Amino acid sequence: MPQTTRAAVVESGGAPFTLCDVVLDDPGPNEAVIRLVAAGVCHTDLGVASGGLPFPLPGVLGHEGAGVVEAVGAAVTRVAPGDHVVLSFTSCGDCRDCRGGHPAYCSTWLPLNLLGGRRADGSSTLGRDGEPLGGHFFGQSSFAERALADERSLVKVDADVPLTSIAPLGCGVQTGVGAVWNVLRPAAGDTVVVLGAGAVGLSAVMAAALSPATTIVAVDRITERLRLAQELGATHTVDPGSADLAESIAGITGGRGADGVVETTGNVGVLRRGVDTLAARGTLVVVGAPPFGTEVALDVNGLLGGKRVVGLTLGDSETQTFIPALVELVKRGRLPLHRLIGTYAFEDIGRAVRDMTEGKTIKPVLTFAGP
Ligand code: ZN
Repeated sequence: MPQTTRAAVVESGGAPFTLCDVVLDDPGPNEAVIRLVAAGVCHTDLGVASGGLPFPLPGVLGHEGAGVVEAVGAAVTRVAPGDHVVLSFTSCGDCRDCRGGHPAYCSTWLPLNLLGGRRADGSSTLGRDGEPLGGHFFGQSSFAERALADERSLVKVDADVPLTSIAPLGCGVQTGVGAVWNVLRPAAGDTVVVLGAGAVGLSAVMAAALSPATTIVAVDRITERLRLAQELGATHTVDPGSADLAESIAGITGGRGADGVVETTGNVGVLRRGVDTLAARGTLVVVGAPPFGTEVALDVNGLLGGKRVVGLTLGDSETQTFIPALVELVKRGRLPLHRLIGTYAFEDIGRAVRDMTEGKTIKPVLTFAGP
């Protein structure tokens, strides 16, 4: 029997998150029902809620869920009721990139995760008053007390680690860490520059601090964030409001430039300046997403020194391997995510969004009352 659950529904672009009862469909053969314990709030949720992306509204967002498996479909083998899970994006498991270990580049990624609002077969996972709601967001729609998720979205995790402390692994943290570990792969003595010290940027700083890079530069206009970046492993900080970025990086690196740059701001002016700070054979990873259709101008001759500009989705992570490794680091205190997290009761989602927008909380995590 489909069950009723409480969810934060966005009625239309620009409308607030409003808690109401919705009907969750029964799990299909490869799906599970998860009781949410925690769910991180990410800028992509706010981008969709504001109407900036063509996701079907009214609908339920949320894509950094963590919880406990309650029920599983007949073909599910990876998880069982009672398992603690982190929810991440979904993928088909069968295309060339999925088979190659790169599910974030699945050929069905956009419709299955961001734009479709339904299962791959076109059916809805959520409804209200007999009408379908936009759901299946990143394979989960976890701003709800219960969520229906694809088995491929679920990563079983160590039950000893509090779910509130690891919910953001499903999107923001794996994106920032993956930019450094999976793309830049710093060599001994490298300089890594992180543009923007939000949740993704600070995750990249922490990942660089766990790598052979010896110079880690955090760039942001907010002084408290730069201070936090230093505590998390940045060796240098630059406030581009008071110092020229290229000159600062040249000064820090003795004129060589950055071996790796992680661009998290989504601002194409910042992206351009980041490319200009690259050393020969340096790589800039584009993580921040500007509005669809945005273009950027680059100095072509400036690229000829072996420079690379690489786009990235979700850290190019193979979630089943990557997320448990990050959980282990959190458990051992080597990836101090708690420094980024502020917790809010699910009912206070509006305040969580406001605090995030105003920069008071880097990574709001919603918490749900018990079973
Ligand atoms: Zn695929």
